[in-house]
Amino acid sequence: MAFWDDKALAEFDQAEWEAVCDGCARCCLKKLQDEDTEEVYYTAVVCRYLDIDRCRCTVYPDRHRLVSDCIRFNAGDVDAMTWLPKSCAYRRLAEGRGLAQWHPLIGGPNAIFEAGISVQGRVISEEHVAEEELEDSLISWVEI
Ligand code: SF4
Ligand code: SF4
Repeated sequence: MAFWDDKALAEFDQAEWEAVCDGCARCCLKKLQDEDTEEVYYTAVVCRYLDIDRCRCTVYPDRHRLVSDCIRFNAGDVDAMTWLPKSCAYRRLAEGRGLAQWHPLIGGPNAIFEAGISVQGRVISEEHVAEEELEDSLISWVEI
C-alpha cells in the first residue's frame, strides 16, 4: 500500500510530506479576504517568486524569509486552513479523499498540467499587478 494511503498525515516523515505536495502552486496565488464575512477569494495573480512555466518556487529554501505570508503548515493545521484549495493534496488526505489520479505520485509529472489543476498558463505575476488592481483579478476556478 502506498504510504499516503497507509499513514495519517501526522505520521509522514519530512520527505513524504514534501512528496505529497502536488505542485499545483494554487497556494501561491494572491488572495483577498472580505473583512466582514472573512470569506476568501482567490485571484489570478501569483507570487513574484513562482516560476510560472514550471510552477516551481524559485526561492524554496528562503521562501518564509522572503514572503511573510508564504504558506507554512503541518498536519495539525490542515483542518483549520479552510482557505486551502479543495484540490490540495494535504486537504484531500486530511478529509479522507485520497490523492487524485492527476497527482504526480499517481499520474506522473505531467498529469497535473494535463488535468488543468496547476496554475500554469492562467496566471500573472504580482510584479505586473498593482495591489489595488487585485480585486479585478478574482477567479472562480479554484474551489475552496
Ligand atoms: S495547494 Fe497544496 S498541493 Fe498545491 S502546491 Fe499548495 S500545498 Fe501543494
Ligand atoms: S515564496 Fe515560493 S512557495 Fe511561497 S508563495 Fe512565493 S512562489 Fe509560492
